[in-house]
Amino acid sequence: MTNIKALKGHIIYTKVKDTFEVHENSYIVIDNKKVVGIFKELPDIYKDISIIDYGHNAIIIPSFIDLHIHAPQYLQMGIGLDLELIEWLQQYTYRNESLFSDVDYAKKIYPTFVDNLYNEGTLRSCIFATIHNESNKILLDELKKKKLSAYVGKVNMNQNAPNDLLQSAECSYEETKSFIDYFTEDLIKPIITPRFAPCCTSELLAKLGKLSMKQELPVQTHLAENKKEVEWVKSLFPDSKNYSDVYKKYNLYGNQKTLLAHSIYLSDEEVAMASNNDNVYLVHCPDSNGNLTSGIMPVTNYLDKGIKVGLGSDIGAGHKMSMPSTITSAVQYSKLRHVFRNEERVLSLSEAFYLATNVNGSFFGKVGSFEKDNFFDALVIRDPDPLVNYLKPIEKLQRFLYNASSNSIVERYLEGEII
Ligand SMILES: [Zn+2]
Repeated sequence: MTNIKALKGHIIYTKVKDTFEVHENSYIVIDNKKVVGIFKELPDIYKDISIIDYGHNAIIIPSFIDLHIHAPQYLQMGIGLDLELIEWLQQYTYRNESLFSDVDYAKKIYPTFVDNLYNEGTLRSCIFATIHNESNKILLDELKKKKLSAYVGKVNMNQNAPNDLLQSAECSYEETKSFIDYFTEDLIKPIITPRFAPCCTSELLAKLGKLSMKQELPVQTHLAENKKEVEWVKSLFPDSKNYSDVYKKYNLYGNQKTLLAHSIYLSDEEVAMASNNDNVYLVHCPDSNGNLTSGIMPVTNYLDKGIKVGLGSDIGAGHKMSMPSTITSAVQYSKLRHVFRNEERVLSLSEAFYLATNVNGSFFGKVGSFEKDNFFDALVIRDPDPLVNYLKPIEKLQRFLYNASSNSIVERYLEGEII
């Protein structure tokens, strides 16, 4: 029984989206990497295992997963956010991403980016890098050093951006293939990453789609974030029925697991496409959408139609690398839609938490919940403010999500190990 241990504290997670499971002063038993069960009293068979007691003030929750984040935009958080998407890309983002042609610049930015993922308790993430493979490799090395799990994509673009960020379709495809060969371990995996339809010709999209199918690799891209962008895509791809159909036509939609960031302005037909495909995740990035005046995803409508909705910070259009902040923003923006757009119901806190843990985690496998046989990925939270001791465990969690800083995270577990 050497690999079995128990953690003691207030254990909170979501099994279903509508409610938090709260186990006060309980034990969660871990066998190697996975959850065995949660017990109020430890059964006799576990009486000799090691126990880590985090005390009455600690809550133990699943660690966070970010399904949409741009590593090169780390330094760009909060900058240029008076602009809308296309202008923001042109005036800030592309200029910033060009800097990653210099590996020394990547060596300065990426270690700090990865440290921040760790600090914020985001132990798994789906990351856009840049077109520059030498810098992209620095990002992988840093993730590995910090023992975090991620999907990382080399960004593909061959039109409608500054020349120094464009590659020919053939070159972009070959570089994607060679980047994939650089991945060597289970925790960090490649993902096919066309930036978004306007930056890719049909030829490039077709090559990437084939590669995703052949190597059974997931896909991440952007979809219907901004009204002008949707019109632009219509003019660039007049033969496609709608924006989603551009990706579908080139095997980049739902053949493999597919992350579609934003997905705010979808036609009824596109909503039906997403709800009929279990591989499709529409990734809600509320802070980013507010900052760039993009709009608000109709998240409860999508959920009630059975669509998988994930959550992402989308830095640097999102201004904080924090999933608690993303969770609470998703709730706040849903309330605004409810008030101003007469949307039937609001997203509850437990639902938003469920999206950031269970749904986001499902992209990685059995991750994001404390049910039996899930990978034990967890955070131990203890607010340094002793006044918090007056609160019930669920109130401690609510306060942490809305108010606390990452200083409250005192331990991080990935697949059963403290990292
Ligand atoms: Zn993005």
